[in-house]
Amino acid sequence: MEIKIGLELHCQLTGLQSKLFCSCRCDYRGMSPNTNTCPICSGLPGTLPLLNQRAVDYAGMISIALGCKIPTSVVFYRKNYFYPDLPKNFQITQYNAYGISSIGVEGKVDYGVKSSKIKRVQLEEDPGRLVYGNTNLDTLIDYNRAGVSLVEIVTEPDFSEPKDVRIFLNKIVSTIEHLGVSDTRLDGSVRCDANVSLEGGNRVEIKNVGSFRDVEKALRYEITRQKTMSVRDIEVRSETRHWDDARSITKQSRQKEEEEDYRYFPEPDIPTIVLGDDYISSLKAKMPELPHERKTRFLGVYGLSDHVAQVLIDDKELADFFESTVKIYPSSPTEIANLIVSDLLGLIDDSAKEQRSIFSGLRIEEKHVAELVRMIDQNVINRNIAKMILSKITKTGEMPSHALDEMDASIIDSKDVISETIESIFKSEKSAVRDAKQNPNAANFLLGKVMKLTGGRADPKIALNLIKTKLAVLE
Ligand SMILES: [Zn+2]
Repeated sequence: MEIKIGLELHCQLTGLQSKLFCSCRCDYRGMSPNTNTCPICSGLPGTLPLLNQRAVDYAGMISIALGCKIPTSVVFYRKNYFYPDLPKNFQITQYNAYGISSIGVEGKVDYGVKSSKIKRVQLEEDPGRLVYGNTNLDTLIDYNRAGVSLVEIVTEPDFSEPKDVRIFLNKIVSTIEHLGVSDTRLDGSVRCDANVSLEGGNRVEIKNVGSFRDVEKALRYEITRQKTMSVRDIEVRSETRHWDDARSITKQSRQKEEEEDYRYFPEPDIPTIVLGDDYISSLKAKMPELPHERKTRFLGVYGLSDHVAQVLIDDKELADFFESTVKIYPSSPTEIANLIVSDLLGLIDDSAKEQRSIFSGLRIEEKHVAELVRMIDQNVINRNIAKMILSKITKTGEMPSHALDEMDASIIDSKDVISETIESIFKSEKSAVRDAKQNPNAANFLLGKVMKLTGGRADPKIALNLIKTKLAVLE
């Protein structure tokens, strides 16, 4: 049964100073409710919207980065609906029904070996925020957010697997971060709705999904629900469902409005915006390095593996951390990248990846990783010990050399000391020794014992050689 998933991604252009059509602040977070409003974003009669030029630039840059065509002129529309989050009772947005109106159309994004088509990228204003109380009679409205610039990215329904959706979303977010147009880690700055249908069935829209991990979970749940209904011959209704995070299910919220319910018409207060070829060329010239270009550079300049480069690029903060560390200690970029990807990332739990900084709660800076890798290079410590030190210093914030002094854990490369350890292990692990004599691969078990007994401090190469030599002379 074919599964079709399409996405609508909303991203606030937090890199701006002001809202889309007025001079109220774009950065409304932390302000008292309803203090970041003016007659324009409140939609008072007699006011006129004035389009924020930089918002158009940013939306254009996003369109270019997603491989979209940019029309030479764009139009804004009114989308009419009555809901308390809209003080004007209409939202100024874009609409493609009567020819091209959006800033970007017909794009394509590659992710791994797959790709997804972008239907359109449009610029619109964010509605206000409803804050629900404990009862139905207790709902508060905060218009501080109303009028903030929002870019909507709409994909074709060409995803069939929830895990691809997550990979795609990571790529989009990394792209937006690299463009510098939005801080995607701010609460509510990126929101994703997904629609999903089975072959021949109705389309269900899932809204209110808090994080990208939940988008994947919600889609899995919804696909199972629709499949089960289809097996029982129950029709899946066209509806909007909300993701209930606590119970990990989707629930029906309202029957979906049909397009015509919105009574779109061109916004009479904003003329057609003529962009022109010169403007589009100037935007293209301003584009910063994008994730796929950065990845190519990481492969070429630093010699990283494809996997390691991809993990770094997927999170701009991580990629930046890597490059600043290399600036401090340029000798071993691959070792730095490996330490970040295999060891440091392992110390970060999944929830932190959605907080303000990926390193939230960890006391780690570039200078720590640089020193740690220098110590590995100079054979002061091995990778096992580096890992132990890393785990310690992310809690204490001290420099690795200081942590090492405290641990008294310098690498043991003295053959005498290691031989002594091996001697005692050969006595206590007689059957393992017999196995290793027959099968050389079993020697790794003995090596493991040596590492354990020395607290990970023995030089593994020397230890393995000594074990093999001792096995060879054994009767
Ligand atoms: Zn305003």
